[in-house]
Amino acid sequence: MISRKLLVGAFVALSFLLVACTSSVEPTNNDDGILDVVATIGQIQDVTENIGGDLVDVTVLMGQGVDPHLYVPIESDLEAFQNADVILYSGINLEAQMIDVMNQIGESRGVPTVAVAETIPQAQLLDYAGGGPGTSDPHVWGDVALWSFAAESIRDTLVAADPDNAEIYNANYDAYKSDLDALHGWAIESIASIPDGQRKLVTAHDAFQYFGKAYNIEVFAPQGISTAAEASVADIQTAVDYIVTNDVPAIFFESAIPIDTVEAMIEGASAREHSVELGGELFADTMGEPGTLEGTYLGMIEHNVTVIVEALGGTVAQLP
Ligand SMILES: [Zn+2]
Repeated sequence: MISRKLLVGAFVALSFLLVACTSSVEPTNNDDGILDVVATIGQIQDVTENIGGDLVDVTVLMGQGVDPHLYVPIESDLEAFQNADVILYSGINLEAQMIDVMNQIGESRGVPTVAVAETIPQAQLLDYAGGGPGTSDPHVWGDVALWSFAAESIRDTLVAADPDNAEIYNANYDAYKSDLDALHGWAIESIASIPDGQRKLVTAHDAFQYFGKAYNIEVFAPQGISTAAEASVADIQTAVDYIVTNDVPAIFFESAIPIDTVEAMIEGASAREHSVELGGELFADTMGEPGTLEGTYLGMIEHNVTVIVEALGGTVAQLP
């Protein structure tokens, strides 16, 4: 805790120093008619680009394969914050090491700093198992209907920052929202095709609770909601029990998480003469490579649903 506070303090102090002493590092906001947006995660970057189009230039801090639970700010982030007209993060405990820093810098520069997922009604948030009383699970983008709240919040933030172009942001949002709605319906239909007893999603880290609730599939993950702690031997044993008892045919690894936990589960099941397949790669906290299907928010959901449905014996519905 002490080291984190020191780090945040040092980072903010450095930021003030830079603003105060370096005339060459002037914030560049509003000089080119383009909104410079800093987004923590790719899911926010992608939605912002869909709604903002050519009117925004989005810098993402935690790119492909970067784990947001563990991320601490690096020096180049400072420059991004100095040039930002808008700072967008997900919130709900996701960017655990970053939230204080962003809010302090945003406040000191008078730049809107918005936790886009925190507009989701509290009643729709799930508990953060092991996260302490009153804390909620941050992995809300797993439910496309919930991530629509974030999209709405991004639209509202862009409109407030650049009201002259409100009409464009609103029209782009409306078009994107209908894609979100269509994908949501497709995901429900596709997951429903998995035979009842096999509708069980086993992964390493617990990033799919919202996904499971929205798309009606039971979720089991030994590692917990944050990746800060690794799964213990006992956690793996519990997972193996779950796999064997429920006759789970396939389990999944996540792109940004070491595969060890999943391999340990497969070996554990095999030792009990239950053969479980490696079902494929899911994108949990970070999207895929830019320029690929999984490198977009819609594509990441499409990919995950397809991999899960195919590995668990369902039939993927016709894409909208
Ligand atoms: Zn996570």
